[in-house]
Amino acid sequence: MPEETIFSKIICKEIPADIVYQDELVTAFRDINPQAPTHVLIIPNRVIPTVDDLEEADEPTIGRMVRVAMTIARDEGIADDGYRLIVNCREHGGQEVYHLHLHLMGGRPLGPMLLRKDGL
Ligand code: AMP
Repeated sequence: MPEETIFSKIICKEIPADIVYQDELVTAFRDINPQAPTHVLIIPNRVIPTVDDLEEADEPTIGRMVRVAMTIARDEGIADDGYRLIVNCREHGGQEVYHLHLHLMGGRPLGPMLLRKDGL
């Protein structure tokens, strides 16, 4: 069993967060350090450390995460202009919290996907 994370404590409300949606599979809450006017994290209730740890049985959960992101984007009024979904994986992906999370960001033009470096 993967270890509990800070996000597990948010799911069971041991630590406070601005939860915008919760069901039996996923929880969504506002990022504590938003990078855009809307910045919501959608996470599985079960600890899955990284996107690389997904199993076939997790397909309903990952599908729910994306559908919930889509619904929140509509509710926040950012869907028509567009938004970005990001999953960071491990060190090179810039992952800080080892509890899979989908970043939903929008509410302004987000610019290029990556800052390009010489030689890529
Ligand atoms: P990542 O770098 O993809 O692992 O993203 C982790 C995200 O979690 C960052 O955007 C943090 O600002 C966010 N975060 C960390 N702790 C909390 C918390 N207690 N409540 C809400 N967001 C958090």
